[in-house]
Amino acid sequence: MTSYLQQARPCVQHLAPYQPGKPIEELQRELVLSRVVKLASNENPLGPSPKALAALQKALQGDPVELGRYPDGNGFILKQALSQRFGVSLDAITLGNGSNDVLELVARAFLGEGDDAIFSEHAFAVYPLAVQAVGARGIAVPARDYGHDLPAMAAAITAATKVIFLANPNNPTGTWFEAADFAAFMAQVPRHVVVVLDEAYGEFVTDPHALNGLSELPKHPNLLISRTLAKAYGLASLRVGYAVASPEITNIINRVRQPFNVNSLALIAAAAAITDDEFVAKTRELNQAGMQQWLEGLSALDLKAMPSRGNFLCVDMQQNAAPLYQALLREGVIVRPVDNYGLPQHLRITIGLAEENAFALNALQRVLAAHKATS
Ligand code: PMP
Repeated sequence: MTSYLQQARPCVQHLAPYQPGKPIEELQRELVLSRVVKLASNENPLGPSPKALAALQKALQGDPVELGRYPDGNGFILKQALSQRFGVSLDAITLGNGSNDVLELVARAFLGEGDDAIFSEHAFAVYPLAVQAVGARGIAVPARDYGHDLPAMAAAITAATKVIFLANPNNPTGTWFEAADFAAFMAQVPRHVVVVLDEAYGEFVTDPHALNGLSELPKHPNLLISRTLAKAYGLASLRVGYAVASPEITNIINRVRQPFNVNSLALIAAAAAITDDEFVAKTRELNQAGMQQWLEGLSALDLKAMPSRGNFLCVDMQQNAAPLYQALLREGVIVRPVDNYGLPQHLRITIGLAEENAFALNALQRVLAAHKATS
């Protein structure tokens, strides 16, 4: 007899769920540790933008009845803030419960059985998941130097290709591509293929000549830019992201959006955070200094990381990284194993505060020494 479990769609039965970074509380439940440093989910070590915090506090002091009401399903205050900040029209913006939501909306709106979506090997894990969940086929194009091989990705397009996901910079590798490479790529992409340019880490990029997706939009009606408030703006827990695209694409993806996908407090916090240039600048500076601290610390341990434009480093441990990940947990340091990305010898480490980086580097030194002694 067929079990109800077998009734699940085959694409879902074969789905391996997303593996998030281990929460601090979970590690503290498992082990007695005086200090835990989490450098596992590319969060902002400064926490939220102070402007966002102030707006939240003000909202909570206001009429409590408001929290008993549904949020504005159209997210007007945040769309207006984004529109003013970036000079894009309101009908070009889609709000998401995190930018993860935006990626899923694209998959749900454009992909189904018989369709293909292209992404790079080692690219963000949600692309294959979102594609598989709707029964489409994901094509992972082999990476070049761990980064996107854009000419090979363009060459992989077939009549079945409907969506291409690009991450710039990419997670977990930190790799990026330049504006000229993107232009050459877009020239190869037929207009009927939707290109998602995921700029979740865009705010960390310091090169003034770097590709900026928003300025590419007028040239490409088939382009969608995905961004998040979870990283540089420090609002990971509130879950807010957004897409900017042509009004036509925006209209399509909004048809599959949950009516109230972004909650009221998230809307309020995000609308304030998006104006907080000072906080983003401070975040970027801290990230640059922390990146330097890590690169020097790693070099003292004879370790190398991939060049990164994100707020994290993908470090080559030169051995199976799984035991090192476990040993770091016992030291109270949570980083991210990336074997599920086809990188079993690497660990992804988020740049933290200076003292968090120092704590983690010390732990790493002890772990490597102990590992050498026993191997
Ligand atoms: N894109 C990339 C490249 C990411 O690394 C992440 C988060 N890990 C996301 C999108 C999704 O982030 P969020 O849903 O928090 O906006």
